[in-house]
Amino acid sequence: MKDTITIVTGGSHGIGRCIAEFLAEKGGNIAIFDVVDGTDSVDAVRSKGVNADFFNVDVSSLKAVESGVEDVLKKMGKINNLINNAGITVDKLLLRMKEEDWDRVIQVNLKSVFNCTKSVIRHMLKTGGSIVNISSIAGVMGNAGQANYAASKAGIIGFTKTIAKEYGERGIRVNAIAPGFIKTKMTDAIDDRLRDEMLKAIPLKKFGEPLDVAHLVYFLVSHYGSYITGEVINVNGGLYM
Ligand code: NAP
Repeated sequence: MKDTITIVTGGSHGIGRCIAEFLAEKGGNIAIFDVVDGTDSVDAVRSKGVNADFFNVDVSSLKAVESGVEDVLKKMGKINNLINNAGITVDKLLLRMKEEDWDRVIQVNLKSVFNCTKSVIRHMLKTGGSIVNISSIAGVMGNAGQANYAASKAGIIGFTKTIAKEYGERGIRVNAIAPGFIKTKMTDAIDDRLRDEMLKAIPLKKFGEPLDVAHLVYFLVSHYGSYITGEVINVNGGLYM
């Protein structure tokens, strides 16, 4: 990871912050894109002895992302890897789901992946690189109450495979990770009854930690993943197999 620059979207909290810290531990420099203050996260990354910066970027806006990417290039010089991690949920059964609930989740979770990938890809053509998109088990097997979220995460999988085919010969690898239930503020919102039901259904009988995802991100962007592209890898304790 030494001398690499990785953009991590949604890197102020949760899985994104953990990815940023773990890649930093392995020697990589980090640019965090988020809509909430990332000072804590940047301090934690810098404490690993690497260069890090926070960019206030709403990834659902192409204009904001393009200007964020220009800022990264000005401050850090290049972009080697992109981790499309930012995401939100607005859960409702379809009958109650409003058009704006659908549109917002698709914009933040799926259009953001287009925005960020399109904005970095021509810079990556010079150096090669690796892109990891954080999908979800919901995108692989569906989940009641999450039509918008599951559609956004399934869309990420189609996008991942397509971009892997388009840019493989230019040395750019593109993979997706589909986490199951990982302990973050996103899953804190789930009520206790549903949580207990989920736990029973997970063969490993425990929820995942952000580090379980971060380890795989590192594997994929580092030389360990050098012959892997267009893959969707599940990290879910066996919940889906
Ligand atoms: P999280 O704790 O809510 O962190 C997500 C981060 O993304 C937050 O800092 C959030 O800011 C930021 N964000 C939201 N909208 C943004 C935007 N428009 N532009 C830039 N940043 C934005 O969520 P998480 O659990 O770590 O999830 C990370 C990713 O993993 C998501 O894509 C999620 O769908 C996926 N995932 C999570 C799980 C799980 O069990 N946790 C399972 C499967 C997949 P705010 O705090 O303002 O929202």
